[in-house]
Amino acid sequence: MADTTHVCASCGQKFLVISQEEEFLKKMNLPMPTLCPSDRQLRRLRGRGERKLFRTTCQQCGAAMVTTYDPATVSAKILCQTCYRQYYDTTDILQK
Ligand SMILES: [Zn+2]
Ligand SMILES: [Zn+2]
Repeated sequence: MADTTHVCASCGQKFLVISQEEEFLKKMNLPMPTLCPSDRQLRRLRGRGERKLFRTTCQQCGAAMVTTYDPATVSAKILCQTCYRQYYDTTDILQK
């Protein structure tokens, strides 16, 4: 199965749904995503009651993303979810 391109219902940007994700959604009987990853994250954060949201880009891979941190004031690295997860997967901060 090939990856499919979808158009975001919110910002109109094209985004990719990889075949594994599509198969997973079909298997779980879930609808195909209608929003790009950053809009999905935005909606999730809004649902949690986060009010201050900033559109920025991941400092690691350059992907568009949404963060609750003001990029102008935060000194920590702002990473997208993928890079964030990768970072914690490869950095054993908890010594588990
Ligand atoms: Zn979008
Ligand atoms: Zn990234």
